[in-house]
Amino acid sequence: MISIANFATAVNMPESTLTGIGRAQGVTDARHAIWYVMRASGLSYNRIAQVFNRKHCTVLSGVRRFTQLLKFKDREAVRLYDLINHIDINNMSVKQQILVINPPQYRQKTCSFQYTDFNCPACSGRGYFTPVEVKKDVFKKEKCDFCGGSGRLEAHVTVEWMPENLKSKKNGKRVNSSGRKGNSPSGFGSIE
Ligand SMILES: [Zn+2]
Repeated sequence: MISIANFATAVNMPESTLTGIGRAQGVTDARHAIWYVMRASGLSYNRIAQVFNRKHCTVLSGVRRFTQLLKFKDREAVRLYDLINHIDINNMSVKQQILVINPPQYRQKTCSFQYTDFNCPACSGRGYFTPVEVKKDVFKKEKCDFCGGSGRLEAHVTVEWMPENLKSKKNGKRVNSSGRKGNSPSGFGSIE
């Protein structure tokens, strides 16, 4: 399921306007910008046409027009592109996980946790950076080196236990029990 809700929010227009038939300049530009980003993200012209209830050739010429506008650094095109180019077409929500820690068994000094399936923020989960059009309709993708092209990250967390104050003496300053300087409820750390 492809959602254009994030695009609509980013360009500050209702979804119904974007998918509707209105042809005011601002709306057309925004629509073409979105098609361009969707196409560059690997969606087929047919799929985009389906989402926007358009003909394949309409989407094709819209993407071509926007490609030209970007090439000539048209101000409005660049502005729209900057607004939406980071958006993940799969509409993944931001994932947050909470780690609750309690001291382990006697003499066990560390405990480890693994958190998987985070969306890679460097490439917005695409696995590659914003593709560059090398020739007509041919996009070259550069693999994301943060997630190795998988679009996903996992976190490995190791918690080290020791007598209180030892760590703060080592660092020469006092930190609270969550290991942060800010006000965090003790024992809870937010992992992102
Ligand atoms: Zn990545």
